[in-house]
Amino acid sequence: MKPLAQKPKVILRHCDTYDAQRIRRIVREGMEELGLRPSGKTLVKPNLVTSGPMFQHAYTRPEFSEGVLLALQDRDDGRMTELALGERCGITVPTRTAMEGAGYPVMLARVGVRPYYFEEEQQREIRYSHAGRLRDYVFTPRPVAEADFFVNCPKFKAHPWTTVTFSIKAYIGIQDDRHRLIDHDHRLNEKIADLQYIVQPELICIDAIVAGEGRMLTPLPRQLNLIVIGNNQCAFDAVCCQIIGVNPRDVDHIRLTHERGFGPIDLDRIELSGDVTLDEARERARGFGVGLVRVEKYFEGTNLSAYAGPPPESEHTDYCWGGCPGAIEEAIEILRLIDDQCDEKMPRIHVVFGDYRGPIPAGPGERVVFIGDCVQWKGELAGQPVQIRSKYRDRSTKDPYTIAHDDIFAKMLSVMKKLRATKNDAWVRFEGCPVSVAEHVLFLQLLGGLRSPFLTGENAVQFNKGYLMWRSATAARRLFGEPYQVPGVCARGHARPEVEAPARADAE
Ligand code: SF4
Repeated sequence: MKPLAQKPKVILRHCDTYDAQRIRRIVREGMEELGLRPSGKTLVKPNLVTSGPMFQHAYTRPEFSEGVLLALQDRDDGRMTELALGERCGITVPTRTAMEGAGYPVMLARVGVRPYYFEEEQQREIRYSHAGRLRDYVFTPRPVAEADFFVNCPKFKAHPWTTVTFSIKAYIGIQDDRHRLIDHDHRLNEKIADLQYIVQPELICIDAIVAGEGRMLTPLPRQLNLIVIGNNQCAFDAVCCQIIGVNPRDVDHIRLTHERGFGPIDLDRIELSGDVTLDEARERARGFGVGLVRVEKYFEGTNLSAYAGPPPESEHTDYCWGGCPGAIEEAIEILRLIDDQCDEKMPRIHVVFGDYRGPIPAGPGERVVFIGDCVQWKGELAGQPVQIRSKYRDRSTKDPYTIAHDDIFAKMLSVMKKLRATKNDAWVRFEGCPVSVAEHVLFLQLLGGLRSPFLTGENAVQFNKGYLMWRSATAARRLFGEPYQVPGVCARGHARPEVEAPARADAE
């Protein structure tokens, strides 16, 4: 990355209410202090990984985004040609459903801002040339590739796979499912660092009024009464880490992004400002719970027993922090919300990940579930010898040009078929790298006889409505000759980062 001209600034502001007008004033003042005015195609990206009453602390609140959008309109001096808001929510759920569940359509209509559902937009190729990249090209939705002024509006949350999710991690939402799932495994932190080469924000505003502790989809609410505003992702995430007592160097995606020259993470290289001091913010966040709990520990004391061996490429890590083990942790939390008898109803089940070499003490009638392409194990179950072999394919075999996408109904059918076919067996295996949160939800729900989050009441109506609209919109585009993705060099907006090759590891 090109060295920064100025010391990045992070502004800590007090805000104890989701009042869009108050948020508007705070963000406008922040933009004035940072000397920022929107220009060209201005794109705001909230975190809408999931939404609705059961997930009310998982996403950037619409009042927050409204305040940011209004502040951008206030600061427009006529150079802004478009103001839009876009996102790709969590895997398999239509973004229309997530936006609806969070109350975004009404808000966007009120402020006259266009929504982009990233999975419905054409996907454009971005070429990487930096050292240490996982692959040479990826795809991102057209509005991201063409953004001139990019505004990241994440939610301040813990994350079970990456410790925290602030500004840098929220980039997972600038890819549609089929591209997002590539490298969403034990190299997830590197994938996130690579995504930084697609676009860089001029402005970052995080919703830390009510932050999310402990988990990502179903976090516990923590009133921090904070809005943090900044102009550099590394500096911004580093200060957010400092607020909760985490060393940013211990968060791999932040450390890697810093090492590639995207910005500083040491406090003496960051200018702090605002009406809340860092010490006051730390006091508010004292004891904030973050993720990174290994799956064996996570399920201790429940009917689920987990066993995890190392993933492939064990020289990088002995545990797959970015894939299947984290997905099952999020899945069980969703099911606990949907069915308050989840833990009581769940039969005793053993789940196995990675190259596991230890015993599986399954009693009579207890199912063993082998999860993921990389799982392998040899032993005896129900008196029979069992050998599970790894089906892991090297990442070089996954080509973004040709990668396919399974929709949620196809996944439901496949999970049901597999469980039916193996109902009398001691074990069952689910393949994928990763096996998604949705698939974990499906098999756990079916094995436990639990209520389905996809087919229960209001959820089902919203989900099916969003699904049909998504599919109709993309079918119409295909009908008019617009392909899903366009290979080759594409037009980029001014928010494209200026990359100097080779990127220096210590550049600040
Ligand atoms: S199959 Fe799952 S556990 Fe194995 S490397 Fe892939 S994401 Fe990780």
